[in-house]
This record gives sequence, C-alpha cells and structure tokens, in this order.
Amino acid sequence: MFEGVIVKAYGGFYYVRSPAGDLECTLRGRFRLGRQDILVGDRVGCQTTDSARGVIEKVHPRATVLTRPPIANINQAVVVFSFVNPRPIARLLDRILVQVSFAGITPLVCFNKFDLREREDAPWPEIYLKAGYRVIVTSAVTGEGVDLLRQSLQDHNSVLAGPSGTGKSSLLNAVQPDLGLKTDAISRKLKRGKHTTRHVELLPLTGGGMVADTPGFSSLTLPDMKREDLGYYFPEFEQYFNRCKFTGCLHRREPVCGVRQAVEHHVIARERYTSYLTFLEEVMQRERRY
Ligand code: GDP
Ligand code: ZN
Repeated sequence: MFEGVIVKAYGGFYYVRSPAGDLECTLRGRFRLGRQDILVGDRVGCQTTDSARGVIEKVHPRATVLTRPPIANINQAVVVFSFVNPRPIARLLDRILVQVSFAGITPLVCFNKFDLREREDAPWPEIYLKAGYRVIVTSAVTGEGVDLLRQSLQDHNSVLAGPSGTGKSSLLNAVQPDLGLKTDAISRKLKRGKHTTRHVELLPLTGGGMVADTPGFSSLTLPDMKREDLGYYFPEFEQYFNRCKFTGCLHRREPVCGVRQAVEHHVIARERYTSYLTFLEEVMQRERRY
C-alpha cells in the first residue's frame, strides 16, 4: 500500500504521483459502483500490481473541492489581473476573491504586465494590500516578481484565476519553462482555444508543490450564502463590525454603521464597498427567489 495524489485522469485511468514515482491506476470496483466521483487532486491509497501500475483502494477526505475545473485539495488561488490590456475590473476581481475565500482557498492577488503599466486608473496593488490580501506585482516579459511568484507557488497546490489575456500561462511558463503551457500567442498560431477539450492536470513544480494547468473561478455567479455572511468575505470590513449599532447590520442604510463610517473616512476603499453593495443585491435577489 502507498499514498499518492491523482495528477491526471484519462480514459478510465488515474495517474497517481507518489514518492516512489508515478503509477497508472484503476479503481477498485466499489468506487465505481458507489458512484463516488474521484477527482484530480484527490489523495489516495493504492495497492501496486506491478512496478508501473496499481489499484486505488482508498480516497482520503478532501480539504477543498472545485467544480470548474473539477479538482480537489487546491489550497491557493493566484488571482491574476493585468495593469493594462486588459485593465482590472474591480467588480470581477472582488467577485473572484469572494468565490475563492468561500471555497476555503487562500487567495494571492497578482497584478501582471508591470512593464506596460502607465498612469493607473487606480493604485491596484495598494488597494488590495490595504484590504488585507497578499499581493504581488509581476511581468512575464521582464521577469519582475517572477521569483516571488515561484516562491509563493512552492509547496502549495495552486490554481490560477482571472480573465483571459492577463498572462496566466505566460507567468507559469516564466516560473518554470518546462511546463509548456500554451499562451495566447501560441494558440493563435495553432488557431484553437487554449483550454478546449483538455483534461485538467496537476503539474509538478521543481521547487515542490503543484499547479493546475487549467484556470479556475470563471463562473460569474456568487456562491450561495446568507446576506449577513457576505461582509465576512471582505476581510477589511470585519474590524469595524463592532461599531455597527445593529447586529446583523448589512452596512447599507442602517443609521450607525462602522463599515459605512470607514468608507466615509477613506479607510475602506470605495470601490470595494461598491462591490460589496453590488454583491449584496445579488445575494438578496437570490434569497427572494427561493
Ligand atoms: P492568459 O490567457 O491569462 O493565460 O494570458 P497569456 O499568458 O496567454 O497572455 C496573453 C497575452 O499577454 C500574450 O500575448 C502574452 O505574450 C502577453 N503577456 C503576458 N504577460 C505579459 C507581461 O507581463 N507583459 C507584457 N507586455 N505582455 C504579457
Ligand atoms: Zn454596518
């Protein structure tokens, strides 16, 4: 019996990485019959049948689960936006941050294309640092911040997130050239989309850790939550909750509200508060529908 991680699933086979090497595994019958889905990223116990093959006997409980792409035990999401081309969209960035935190995954905000940075429409890195997130600034072209990104990926199971064209594939290739991820430039030459008909795979990083080859968090819908919970997904809000007069304050039009005061005093960024109000409306709309 040995322990490993499923790094790829293809044609009924599961490729399990273990300290002893990679094995091509099948499932013990009861998993197939029990309809238990097994995901890339699952930690499994296997029995070897020969030096290159085995049978999965046991699937360990998952720490996190994503559905798009279907992958288990991711513990870090690098949320990549670019200074320009395309410019960041605060609503979209904040939406991904809520989704990531809701999934129990630690976000790392990355602003890429530093080499193209002109006068910014907003001091993006500062806004997110102040909000309490880890932030890095990178350029896949000049190599700025790439060492830091490499260090951040080390010993984590990461997925990259963010709009297409922000440089996710380019950054991973800069971190580790032999990953061979397709960038926009290459896909255009090949005349097909980068992420079409592909199976998600966890790629091993030289320094330890793994990274998914397919970006995550492309869904626009917010996770299902109660209206009172949304504020907890804005880490910079929490320290002002005790100044709200009403328990269950939604930080909207309530007369004495610590969060609103902090926005008035510019200690909470107005853009972030606007995202909060937008998302609150969505969460409440959905509550009403049920
Ligand atoms: P993805 O869709 O997020 O994976 O983005 P790609 O990695 O495919 O990059 C999109 C385009 O931006 C490509 O043409 C890249 O060459 C370019 N690009 C990526 N990173 C940078 C960067 O840091 N600076 C500049 N100037 N261009 C970049
Ligand atoms: Zn309040």
